[in-house]
Amino acid sequence: MVELEGVTKEYAGGVVAVRDVSLTVQAGELAAIVGPSGSGKSTMLHLIGTLDRPSAGAVRIDGHEVAALKDRQLAALRARRIGFVFQQFHLAVGQSALDNVADGLLYAGPSRAERRRRAEDALRRVGLGDRLDHRPNELSGGERQRVAIARAVVGEPAILLADEPTGNLDSASGAGVVQLLRELHQAGTTILVITHDQEIAASLPRQIAMRDGEVVPS
Ligand code: ADP
Repeated sequence: MVELEGVTKEYAGGVVAVRDVSLTVQAGELAAIVGPSGSGKSTMLHLIGTLDRPSAGAVRIDGHEVAALKDRQLAALRARRIGFVFQQFHLAVGQSALDNVADGLLYAGPSRAERRRRAEDALRRVGLGDRLDHRPNELSGGERQRVAIARAVVGEPAILLADEPTGNLDSASGAGVVQLLRELHQAGTTILVITHDQEIAASLPRQIAMRDGEVVPS
């Protein structure tokens, strides 16, 4: 599902954030990415999410060689096959939970009615069937993150990438979000999740440890 081969990412200014990383993630895996702040976790997730291109090495996602794709093709791959969840939720403040999730399907092109129907299904899946018309400011942090996860998975992506999804949540809400990730994993989604939480990381089937831009051999 994900294959990195000798991947390096050097930012302008000379910071090498990811250094010669080779990594394979099989379809259906659920893995934690762990490591100290600044060790390159987010940069690696961005490379896997095709939000960024490597300075050297090969990135293959869902059978596609990223270097061979034009920006427009990459955007299509990202929109159709990859779901993102961030620590800060990134929901549209003036919109209901339903519309926020329905927007996750804009690229796929179904009708508005179909988008809303599928968004409702996704919100029910994350346990928010009774919060469809609530706006983000009318939801708790844990509920907002559930909306963000529903938006990320409404298009049934092959892979879900989450960057500190529990970072802004109290431990009970965080545990609920992790449980939701487990359920999505059991339903077949490939999931990579950056977390600082040792307990969460240890509870997941695989840990990928980073240090100074490199993946530490396990
Ligand atoms: P982590 O997610 O593990 O905290 P990051 O991937 O965010 O690590 O950062 C790795 C290194 O790359 C850090 O030294 C950081 O300062 C640097 N870095 C991250 N993003 C940029 C950027 N856009 N431009 C320059 N340097 C960056």
